[in-house]
Amino acid sequence: MRDVPQLCLVMPVFNEAAGLAQAVPRILAAAREAAPGGQVVLIAVDDGSRDTSAEVLDGLAARHPQLEVIGFTRNFGKEAAIQAGLDHGLASTLADVFVTIDADLQHPPELLRQMVEHWRQGIGIVEAVKRRRGDAGRLRGAFAGGFNHLFSRLSGVDIAGATDFKLLDRAVAVELLSLPERTRFFRGIVRWLGHPVVQIPFDVLPRAAGSSAWGWWSLTRYAWRNLTAFSSAPLQLVGLAGVLGLVTGALLAAKALYDKLSGQALSGFSTVILLQVIFGSLLLLSLGVIGSYIARIYDEIKRRPYYVLRPPRQRDRAEDRSL
Ligand code: UDP
Ligand code: MG
Repeated sequence: MRDVPQLCLVMPVFNEAAGLAQAVPRILAAAREAAPGGQVVLIAVDDGSRDTSAEVLDGLAARHPQLEVIGFTRNFGKEAAIQAGLDHGLASTLADVFVTIDADLQHPPELLRQMVEHWRQGIGIVEAVKRRRGDAGRLRGAFAGGFNHLFSRLSGVDIAGATDFKLLDRAVAVELLSLPERTRFFRGIVRWLGHPVVQIPFDVLPRAAGSSAWGWWSLTRYAWRNLTAFSSAPLQLVGLAGVLGLVTGALLAAKALYDKLSGQALSGFSTVILLQVIFGSLLLLSLGVIGSYIARIYDEIKRRPYYVLRPPRQRDRAEDRSL
């Protein structure tokens, strides 16, 4: 059995001012309990919040020495925040274990103990998986379930029930960050690595405070981004649609020829219009799908950083100078 680990928690934060004062102490307490005697660091990554989350976090950091705060210049998204937290944690701590956890207490911190137990038995990845969603409506749940199913089918990486509440061994975290792609989908990538995973089912609780930052549009975009980042199947579907179109076209052409030769050629106007509409929209759709992938390539080759950190706040800088 492994020793009690040094624990580094990574918590993405976006407009969570209302809930942080409750979440941070509870997460820290659960972490201390999960790793008694071990060192605990909680890295809060402020993902360009537009409320007072940054100030609240600074205030909490003054009271909780185990809390460390970094922040982005603007909103870069949860994936980038997780990435930044892991980057920072690997560079600045000697933690044996990394855990990603939401700031809204929808990921029950009390699970940490069980997760660390599994790590001590030698498991490299422990995932908390959803039994059911807390606050999401039925439609939203169906959407998420549908996406997970589609994603799993198309990419061959099963992400059913997966959440971003995960424990990673340090070696796994290093491996994860060494993957070169820009567009990351944390849940998918962790399973793609293929290491044995232990899953702990849990019920997603309703949010402690605030509301989810995900609207329908952003959720749909996120789903499409993740799907195209992981699977080229939509491109192959375009090809398949082309083949089907060709077969249909050949059948229609044969019929038209037959009609003409047997002297019963109709005016054929509606057929022409129908074909135009069907193939016109099919072409546009195909171009859109191909365009998505070209955009992905474009994003990748720009090789921009995943995120931009904002300089430490004024107060911190004054302290730095006095050192
Ligand atoms: N989050 C973030 N950047 C964003 C959106 C969300 O860092 O652009 C954080 C948010 O503060 C929370 C976690 O990601 O800690 C999960 O977000 P949310 O609760 O809105 O998503 P859901 O629980 O509906 O998946
Ligand atoms: Mg949430």
